[in-house]
Amino acid sequence: MNHAALMYHDVVTRGREDASGFPGAAAAHYKLDEAAFARHVRTLAGSGLRFPAVTAPPGAAACYLTFDDGGRSAAGIADALDVHGMVGHFLVTTGRIATPGFLDAAAIRRLAVGGHVVGSHSHTHPAEISRLPAAALDAEWRLSVDRLQQILGREVTVASVPGGFYSHAVARAAAAAGIRWLFTSEPTMRPHAVDGCRMLGRYTLWRGMSATDALALALGRAALRQRQWLGWNLKKPLKRCARPVYQRVRRRWLGEA
Ligand SMILES: [Zn+2]
Repeated sequence: MNHAALMYHDVVTRGREDASGFPGAAAAHYKLDEAAFARHVRTLAGSGLRFPAVTAPPGAAACYLTFDDGGRSAAGIADALDVHGMVGHFLVTTGRIATPGFLDAAAIRRLAVGGHVVGSHSHTHPAEISRLPAAALDAEWRLSVDRLQQILGREVTVASVPGGFYSHAVARAAAAAGIRWLFTSEPTMRPHAVDGCRMLGRYTLWRGMSATDALALALGRAALRQRQWLGWNLKKPLKRCARPVYQRVRRRWLGEA
């Protein structure tokens, strides 16, 4: 049975978006404020779904909660999830560890000790990981996995693709670095495998989306999922053929000059 995965980023105080994760308007678009996130957690917890680790044996009626970038708000997010016994997947940009706005090694260790999944979100969060030459791409995953393994003293087998720039080469390099579950930004519940690594699509939650939206995506209500799928697939040819146009449009959507 296929499960949905939700993609969150940071949870911040409104007006202080740069306190956690990557700074700037584009990143802020993906950050929920604390009150909104608390509503999401309460609503999801009451849904009857389970929120297990992707590394656990899959059961019925589950949804995976993922949090990209490794911003320092992860600690508070984990506390909110712990109240309901929900597991978070925290995907860390390892090159940013202990820099302003990001988790340090001790905080990363606490997440794992608390039963959450810690994984890689690449080492440097390159602008377009899918455009990197092979050696640089390999290094992004290997450095990141090594760094996390040093911090955690255990194997790291989960990751997410930065910026949603997935390609077959990105997946193969992740698999070669020991990743067995790779979360993408493709809004789909249908997984596929590359070199023994499972690709898991995710539905994006951004600022302004309601708890009802989150619940609909987690449960598989068709309408909202279809809208995300349509939006994503309409953007795809733009991404491929008209990169500058896509980036201009994207910047406009995200409220950047
Ligand atoms: Zn990211």
